[in-house]
Amino acid sequence: MNFILGSAAPENENKRHYFFLFQKNNLLVKKLYKAFAVLTSDDLSHLQHTFANKFYIGSLDGYPCYAARFPEDEVIPDNMEFVGLRQLYEKLDEIMLQAAFRAVQIVAWDETHRFCGVCGEATEKKSDEHAKVCPKCGHTSYPRLSPAVIVAVTKGDKLLLASSKNFTTGMYSVLAGFVEAGETLEECVKREIREEAGIEVTNVKYFGSQPWPFPNSFMLAFTAEHERGEIKIDDNEIADARWFGIDEIPNIPSIPGSLSISRRLIDWFIEKYRK
Ligand SMILES: [Zn+2]
Repeated sequence: MNFILGSAAPENENKRHYFFLFQKNNLLVKKLYKAFAVLTSDDLSHLQHTFANKFYIGSLDGYPCYAARFPEDEVIPDNMEFVGLRQLYEKLDEIMLQAAFRAVQIVAWDETHRFCGVCGEATEKKSDEHAKVCPKCGHTSYPRLSPAVIVAVTKGDKLLLASSKNFTTGMYSVLAGFVEAGETLEECVKREIREEAGIEVTNVKYFGSQPWPFPNSFMLAFTAEHERGEIKIDDNEIADARWFGIDEIPNIPSIPGSLSISRRLIDWFIEKYRK
């Protein structure tokens, strides 16, 4: 399966298409035995609602994909249900989930950019790209992404894991934080680790990235090595931070699930230092 991202809807609207429909961050899916499927236009043909305010997000194996809100008062058929995106991992094809991540961000962006941020006039949708234009002052806004770094810091054969005050109790992960205006990614990595764990790092290397639509983060993952200093946690954000040897890394549910890039970083460390 292949998802090709796009913004301008195809000419022929009548072709069979996929529909990513949301209530809050929950996607409407068809129930299958032990799995779920994304809805197609055929599944929705009997509904009264026409989804006039829909967004083209790309194509899956050549079929157009649209995203929209599902009205609160519309009844859903028995063979469908709303499921949170995190719960869909391993129950929905990974490419479908990638498309759903894009869909939910576009729908949320539409709802939070109804009015011009400069003059307050109601905005209008552009047809050829995902943008909202103000008819009064011409201000244009685009879907917002918030870049954040996430870092696996090693010291010899140990990995730095921390328990955030925002996490479920007892959950440990690698450190992360949002990129500030005017900062390079490398500077951000060094600052976040310094602020949250009190140590200096070196040898910062890019690892990978992941869109994380909760609500609009874009995760940029790095590895780094301890350079100097002892762990001294930021009490406002971090409950505990320690060096973990390969045999001391906690198991699920005390580390993030395999959907997240934080878990991919932890798995990278385990793979590298497995004896
Ligand atoms: Zn305006």
